[in-house]
Amino acid sequence: MHAASEPTETMMAGQIPLPVPSKMTEPFWAGMRQNKLLLQRCKTCNAYRWTPQVLCRDCYSEDYEWSEVSGKGTVFSYTVVHRPPLPAFKAPYIVAVIELAEGPLMLTNVIDCDPAALKVGDKVKVAFEKATDEVTLYRFRLA
Ligand SMILES: [Zn+2]
Repeated sequence: MHAASEPTETMMAGQIPLPVPSKMTEPFWAGMRQNKLLLQRCKTCNAYRWTPQVLCRDCYSEDYEWSEVSGKGTVFSYTVVHRPPLPAFKAPYIVAVIELAEGPLMLTNVIDCDPAALKVGDKVKVAFEKATDEVTLYRFRLA
């Protein structure tokens, strides 16, 4: 077992660490592999939620379905990273919180954008970035 700060083979190969799907998140990653952004939607009150979790935050129902959303959103907040945690992350890059059209906030990156030009309130659209056969990452671009 590696300590959190110990580099793994993947990191030493110059690649970013990738998410490992769990039983809870696998439907989300299956959607990503098909270039679909899926969120859990409560079947009791219809609220969308992100990140994946067992209970609805609004009504505590355990009854949900995975539902494709528009991929449209608005920049809620952001920061520009100049000193990356690993060399594989090419700085500067934008870490942003996107308010999805369906309501939830999603932590992500805005890509293909001059960091000096981004503004809170800018409209964005999801972009799918295939990392491996198993993992496609979600980013956003200016709409
Ligand atoms: Zn609910």
